[in-house]
Amino acid sequence: MANVPELFGSMVFNDRKMEERLPHATYKALKRTIKNGDPLDLSVANGVANAMKEWAVEMGCTHYTHWFQPMTGVTAEKHDSFIYPASDGQVIMEFSGKELIKGEPDASSFPSGGIRATFEARGYTTWDPTSPAFIRDKTLYIPTAFCSYTGEVLDKKTPLLRSMEKLSSVAVDVLHLLGKEDVTRVTTTVGPEQEYFLIDKEMYDKRPDLIYTGRTLFGAPAPKGQELEDHYFGSIKTRVAAFMNDLDEELWKLGVMAKTKHNEVAPSQHELAPIFATSNIATDHNELTMEVMKKTAEKHGLVCLLHEKPFAGVNGSGKHNNWSISTNTGENLLDPGKTPENNLQFQLFLAAIVKAVHEYQDLLRLTVASAGNDHRLGANEAPPAIISMYLGDDLGALVDSIVNGTEYRSSGKVEMLTGVDVLPDFKKDTSDRNRTSPFAFTGNKFEFRALGSSLNIACPNYMLNTMVADELAGFYDELKDADDLEAAMKALIRKTLTEHKNIIFNGDNYSDEWVAEAERRGLCNFRSMPEAMSHYIDKKNVDLFVRNGIVSEAEIHARYEIELEHYSKEIRIEALTMIDMAEKNITPAVIGFVNRLADAALAKKALSPAISVYAETTLAQELSEKLEAFVKKTDELKAAVYGAAAYTEVLSLAMYYREKVFALMGELRTIGDDMEKKTSAEAWPYPSYGEILFGV
Ligand code: ADP
Ligand code: MG
Repeated sequence: MANVPELFGSMVFNDRKMEERLPHATYKALKRTIKNGDPLDLSVANGVANAMKEWAVEMGCTHYTHWFQPMTGVTAEKHDSFIYPASDGQVIMEFSGKELIKGEPDASSFPSGGIRATFEARGYTTWDPTSPAFIRDKTLYIPTAFCSYTGEVLDKKTPLLRSMEKLSSVAVDVLHLLGKEDVTRVTTTVGPEQEYFLIDKEMYDKRPDLIYTGRTLFGAPAPKGQELEDHYFGSIKTRVAAFMNDLDEELWKLGVMAKTKHNEVAPSQHELAPIFATSNIATDHNELTMEVMKKTAEKHGLVCLLHEKPFAGVNGSGKHNNWSISTNTGENLLDPGKTPENNLQFQLFLAAIVKAVHEYQDLLRLTVASAGNDHRLGANEAPPAIISMYLGDDLGALVDSIVNGTEYRSSGKVEMLTGVDVLPDFKKDTSDRNRTSPFAFTGNKFEFRALGSSLNIACPNYMLNTMVADELAGFYDELKDADDLEAAMKALIRKTLTEHKNIIFNGDNYSDEWVAEAERRGLCNFRSMPEAMSHYIDKKNVDLFVRNGIVSEAEIHARYEIELEHYSKEIRIEALTMIDMAEKNITPAVIGFVNRLADAALAKKALSPAISVYAETTLAQELSEKLEAFVKKTDELKAAVYGAAAYTEVLSLAMYYREKVFALMGELRTIGDDMEKKTSAEAWPYPSYGEILFGV
């Protein structure tokens, strides 16, 4: 049995270790940087580097790496050993402040969206002292931000850190205006709930589609799916439980507060939720969690799938981004308190968020857009592609009363009577959960529920922080010279909520009526990734980021290009994989099976013309017809992939892939799956959905 408190953070150079190992003045200076964002000087960095190295070497490390989050969508690392030549020809283990602060990976092989030519290959990684270093596989990992030689941001982490700073500074201004002089810093917190699939490694190895693309491109449904609703919260199978225990321990060692685990809706699907942390640490931890999930699965003969839709016909995987804002004095700014109707500070922050989500709904939509997530949004398993907010009964009523100038009445906490003596009665929450809303208020935080499972949460969070910071800054300007602050606040809150209440929707987001209603309200409904992404470079969005110093116009254009290019490449890989599977395995397998049927029929007839060959001939006939359609469709898909060469501009290329190539892939799949249903299991070249999903 693990001693959890002892295990927790044992692989992290955390606050306790820093205090123990750093000279006092160095520790104090570092803390000032971490807490207040004060600049850090080289002598402090030298002290920290030395202490980090001593600890890492004691723990058996030989190497260190700057760990960063380029635009590829996965983390990157380049390992350097600590060795340093000594005068006697031997080596000593050394690590300087300079090496801690700055790394120089070759940036030319990371996506930059045409921001640099390859000859300007230099890039820098810069230590992020607010996220602690940790050890994995005998290597000291140092969380860093990544930029080009000329200073352009090339990663996901830097905009997040900037947006946190920005939100902090404007929120502090606002709070000072409200008399909270003791607040010096405001931080955003995130708790990401992570969904994933676990399947048997042997099955995985037989599926090129899973290997190349992370999802199955063919596969007829199994006789059973998720309709019995018996997997959600179901008891966890032994093999999966062993994986989960191992995963928890690995994460705890890395200082990740893994808290909740359970089976999810689809067969073989599960979820892990940590206790929330500051946004940038939550981001690092979520990236780590996904990596550790994959590695831990391997140890158990399993594969962890983080694709948004690995299997058609059953739910895919998402991520819920629980987000809140709190002060260094320990106040959660999204906590309405007992009397929200009198809590003008809360109302002001709420109004800023409502306005931000309404004005920048397109950004929230496009930040969760990806080839994988296109399968989920609007497919009745995740929120629709329309962004709206759910406030619940109480806050909904409060907003109505503010807008209409009527009196607010809270439903109050209701006693929940279980009616059974041995069961304790309890107070139930006043607002029920609305599981269909993309952006739901849940007591003292918002839950952004439209994220795909593999997404780096830095992106939605920097967008969210930036748009809210921008609205708060606007509020501050309007309020700062007010003679009667209270009256001015009330007027501003009322005006804002009246103008932006159209983004609030408390009903069923999965219903067709909502799609029509949202259109009447003028809300965006971008159905595909390219359609959503095309709005990244809209003037109002570019202005938002530039105005707040988060990313420059050139950087936004680069990001836009990278995302769209990535999308086109993903669809292309999927199409090529399908063609490969079709031509090399599926078509030959069906031909072989039809041959066997024909041989069997001929043999029977030779034996006696009176024997029925009905089964063989009907099936051979049916499969031959399907096969003809299948082969023709494969050729059509192939031609469509070649046809992409005609498009050079990123958006039209992505649109082409979506409208032409992706559509044909769906048609090819339908025929393939039909053939699978009719072909003998032993002749079919790939493990079936039943074997994959119900095998574990
Ligand atoms: P549910 O599945 O009902 O949404 P969970 O308990 O699985 O709830 O997840 C809720 C998540 O919200 C957890 O990760 C939790 O730590 C996080 N959370 C709670 N309070 C905050 C907060 N103030 N800021 C950010 N995240 C929070
Ligand atoms: Mg949730």
